[in-house]
Amino acid sequence: VPESAGEQRRVLLAAPRGYCAGVDRAVVTVEKALELYGPPVYVRKEIVHNKHVVRTLEKRGAIFVEETDEVPEGARVIFSAHGVSPAVHAEARALSLRTIDATCPLVTKVHREAIRFAGEDYTILLVGHTGHEEVEGTAGEAPENTIVVENPEHAAVVEVPNPEKLAWLSQTTLSVDETMQTVAILRERFPHLQDPPSDDICYATQNRQVAVKQMAAECDLMIVVGSQNSSNSKRLVEVALEHGSRDGHLVDYADEIDEAWLDGVSTVGVTSGASVPEVLVRDVLDWLAERGYADVSAVTAAEESLLFALPTELRRDLKAAG
Ligand code: SF4
Repeated sequence: VPESAGEQRRVLLAAPRGYCAGVDRAVVTVEKALELYGPPVYVRKEIVHNKHVVRTLEKRGAIFVEETDEVPEGARVIFSAHGVSPAVHAEARALSLRTIDATCPLVTKVHREAIRFAGEDYTILLVGHTGHEEVEGTAGEAPENTIVVENPEHAAVVEVPNPEKLAWLSQTTLSVDETMQTVAILRERFPHLQDPPSDDICYATQNRQVAVKQMAAECDLMIVVGSQNSSNSKRLVEVALEHGSRDGHLVDYADEIDEAWLDGVSTVGVTSGASVPEVLVRDVLDWLAERGYADVSAVTAAEESLLFALPTELRRDLKAAG
């Protein structure tokens, strides 16, 4: 007797998922700073785009602010993983703030590319989302030379001052496929377009998307654990839907899953964005197991072993403290 959908219940669990090297470094930076200097430690913007992480650090004494001028003069402030523009560094100096820069080294790499292209008088077409902190930071390296390009539709109409001197860069957490479409349109319109020296979309974003692509066609439902303001997490839902998952949702916590999503579902895919602690994925797996989805198989797209050293300022103080 064939089993109906819903009776064969299983979970496909993506790997890699969750924390990337840049997020791990940024979160550990705040934890170590709290231990070493004692609270309060100010953090400009959410250290990483995850509600749970921010709440947990707040309980330990971190104070999250939107702008540098909310930090009392002379206090210690950590810059988030998404990076900041030179104007923000200047504001911090003017307020004599003691800064610790937790910008992900892979974001810093894009900043350097922007500085180099702008220095050679190129206009930079920065593929990314207007208003996202990372884009504000990268564009801020060369505001006069940068035009943000949102998506393929925008690429088809964007105007540039000199089509002979153009380069493109991107936000690190975009959809790989959509970015390639955007760039293909730009290249067709502007054949002299220069590429970045290496991929700007980071390894973690790429690997998490590859894993989701591998399993999406088998999934009736994809649950991505991540916050609404997390670019890479949102992209995972889109990638899942584009590659065959019947349904897909982004949730911060297991209790946000709607039981109705499970109607007629036999295979649930589970993954998490680069800013998501594993404990939140475990909660989702427990929630699913309680509803009969206890058979979990991993779908592994890549192994990750990258680790970044803590910011220099913090390493120096940790060393001095013994
Ligand atoms: Fe760095 Fe990529 Fe992680 Fe962003 S998602 S913090 S760029 S490793």
